[in-house]
Amino acid sequence: MSDLSSLPVQGEPVAAVATPVGVGALAVVRMSGEGVLAIADRVFTKARSPETLLADSPGYTAHFGKLYDGDSMIDEVIVLVFRSPDSFTVEDMVEITCHGGPVVTKHVLKLLLDNGCRLAEPGEFTRRAFLNGRIDLLQAEAIGEMIHARSESAYRTAVNQMKGTLSGKLNSLREQLLHSCALLELELDFSEEDVEFQSREELSGQVDMLQKEVEKLVESYQHGRLLSEGVATAIIGRPNAGKSTLLNALLGEERAIVSHMPGTTRDYIEECFIHEKTMFRLTDTAGLREVDEEVEHEGVRRSYQKIAEADLVLFLLDVGSDMYEEEVVAATRLRERYPETKLLVVANKIDSVEDSRRRMRILEEKAGSRMIGISALKQEGLGELKAEMNSMVEGLDKLHDASVLVTSMRHYEALRNAADALRNARELIEAQSETELIAFELRSALDYVGEITGKVVNEEVLNVIFGQFCIGK
Ligand code: GDP
Repeated sequence: MSDLSSLPVQGEPVAAVATPVGVGALAVVRMSGEGVLAIADRVFTKARSPETLLADSPGYTAHFGKLYDGDSMIDEVIVLVFRSPDSFTVEDMVEITCHGGPVVTKHVLKLLLDNGCRLAEPGEFTRRAFLNGRIDLLQAEAIGEMIHARSESAYRTAVNQMKGTLSGKLNSLREQLLHSCALLELELDFSEEDVEFQSREELSGQVDMLQKEVEKLVESYQHGRLLSEGVATAIIGRPNAGKSTLLNALLGEERAIVSHMPGTTRDYIEECFIHEKTMFRLTDTAGLREVDEEVEHEGVRRSYQKIAEADLVLFLLDVGSDMYEEEVVAATRLRERYPETKLLVVANKIDSVEDSRRRMRILEEKAGSRMIGISALKQEGLGELKAEMNSMVEGLDKLHDASVLVTSMRHYEALRNAADALRNARELIEAQSETELIAFELRSALDYVGEITGKVVNEEVLNVIFGQFCIGK
């Protein structure tokens, strides 16, 4: 645990390229910390009034000129000056907009490193913004989420978090908890005199209310996760049912933008598509055979694993096959085996037989549920399929604007712990336990909530969070 107020406002000067590697019209190299204006003055000459220094310039000013390494010119650039405390990190900052391209940016960065900067660690700028009180931990994480957002809904959720909606909610919960804690601790101070500053009934009511609020947040994670990570969707069916064809058809035009994100496990992006703002993440397609449980081998077991992990399962069957009726039996069995999983039966290859409508009706009757008929090959019925997929995760789109949603595993776990502590506290109150024990549980609830926004700082947690950022953020 560290005390935020004692941290220095201006850290050692650091520099990093803030834009992605590659060729572009422009790139940004940024510096933050003590003396960065003087470092910039050493390598930069203004085009107009070259005798004036950046160190004497007011904040929020832009300067055009040239960067030099000794006598050799590096690039023509724009330099932006930010003066503490009015910058992202609260420190003095300089942003150099140079020409894009890996070699140019490498030269600019090297110049700054040669003149007194250290290379910034991943997420160091955001970490400084947090340590200097410019943003709380939730907002820092929201910046990361925003950068990595690939769907409109993930982006909007991140924006909401950045605005501080969840922080506001948690801070208000924290204040109420703090109030109850303070009263209890006051009682402990006066323990000789047997006074109650808040009746136990009142306290119990308050703790109950807080517990419900925290539990509501815990529950919102189910949706929050879907919004930020996408709906994990598995396509299963017998070999040749058309799973690969459907996968490609679904990914087709709405394929999400592919990008590699270092430090995250989100490389599955290549298999995401977005329909009406909701992102579906297609996990690898699993072949599924009719198997004897005894001889179930590894491959099939993995398929079942995928089903158990999926938010939505598309059970694909070949309506043209001679065995089409048997497939429904397999679907029904799966339903029984995974009652919690959302399973949608999809009849593929409706183009391959003339009586596909009749066959589907037979299947629907057998399965006792609605079925979607498609031709993955001819791309027929895909609109209806996507609409059905959307409605199966119903309510998700209505949540896009919902203000308070928990989207991160870290927050979810802390809130669950807080809810447990509150439940314990309430039970202790009811059992008329000692004030000390009640106060202990309330204190831990307080700490769990504080961990989320960063009011209670754990160095390890910070390293994990900021380590996931890219360098330059
Ligand atoms: P998977 O083994 O389930 O991945 O099946 P594939 O996607 O590889 O498809 C097996 C075969 O069925 C291929 O020859 C596909 O061209 C064909 N196929 C897939 N979908 C359709 C469809 O909608 N109609 C027709 N007529 N053939 C299809």
